[in-house]
Amino acid sequence: MSRIAFIGLGNMGGPMAANLLKAGHSLRVFDLAPALVAGAVVAGAHAAIDAADAVVDAEVVISMLPASRHVEGLYLGDAGLLAQMPAGALVIDCSTIAPACAQKVAAAATARGLQMIDAPVSGGTAGAAAGTLTFIVGGEASALERARPLLQAMGKNIFHVGASGAGQVAKLCNNMALGVIMAATGEALALGSAHGLDPKVLSQMMAVSTSRSWATEVCNPWPGVLENAPASRGYSGGFGNDLMLKDLGLAAEAAMSTGASIPLGELARNLYAMNSRAGHGGLDFSSVVKLVAKDL
Ligand code: NAD
Repeated sequence: MSRIAFIGLGNMGGPMAANLLKAGHSLRVFDLAPALVAGAVVAGAHAAIDAADAVVDAEVVISMLPASRHVEGLYLGDAGLLAQMPAGALVIDCSTIAPACAQKVAAAATARGLQMIDAPVSGGTAGAAAGTLTFIVGGEASALERARPLLQAMGKNIFHVGASGAGQVAKLCNNMALGVIMAATGEALALGSAHGLDPKVLSQMMAVSTSRSWATEVCNPWPGVLENAPASRGYSGGFGNDLMLKDLGLAAEAAMSTGASIPLGELARNLYAMNSRAGHGGLDFSSVVKLVAKDL
């Protein structure tokens, strides 16, 4: 059993913390939203009054925050957590952030004698709830071995892809492909629907044909096709459009820093930006289909 500080109890962090509690670990939790802290307390966690209070006595600190600025704000500076946590504590940041930011925070941790890995995840909110996430890890192998039992309590697959920041690069590659595939799947369903096809039958055919993907099988963007997909509950929950937009912006930055070409990734970034401007930024990213589908 480990003493864990868990910071960030949103769509992903909440169920991840719940799985650590189920595995018998002791958690002190903090989120800016008090209702989310209260929910974790019902599941067996101890409430902290702020992030510094959460890390008192922590052997491991896990964070699951929206973006780079939140992670830097949490860990760096005189009042940041790196300056507050017990000697020898391990930091596991599961947020999806800029690779350079992950490296900057990890370097600051190393300077204080602390180990840190970037461990962004794939699998969505369903994977977080089921404990079947994929962890994509950058950092030292010895730090990953310390983290492994905890990651196994929250996920099914663990990939060590390289040094600090590499987990973030690999995660951005995954999400860039996902963003393109989701937009393309929505476009195909809208085309079929415009010709009078039933999107459910079309999706069932695609799910066993060559355009098969997570977008056809698990998070289908058309309402009513899959009962448990965000599209069938007004695009609520799931992976926010603006989080996908953030990730595609990070992918664009990563491409510029190496001169890589990502024409489809750039196009997809613009589509999610348009969807955000249409007022759908807080909806699941599969709502990008609304840009091309009549009456959705
Ligand atoms: P979310 O917005 O639901 O949750 C983030 C939580 O962090 C919020 O509850 C917010 O109050 C809290 N927070 C922000 N700043 C804080 C601070 N300084 N201290 C304490 N709490 C703070 O987001 P999410 O969907 O859970 O995503 C979290 C991260 O995981 C993002 O980087 C996202 O890109 C990534 N991710 C999300 C999914 C998904 O399907 N939702 C899948 C894979 C990866």
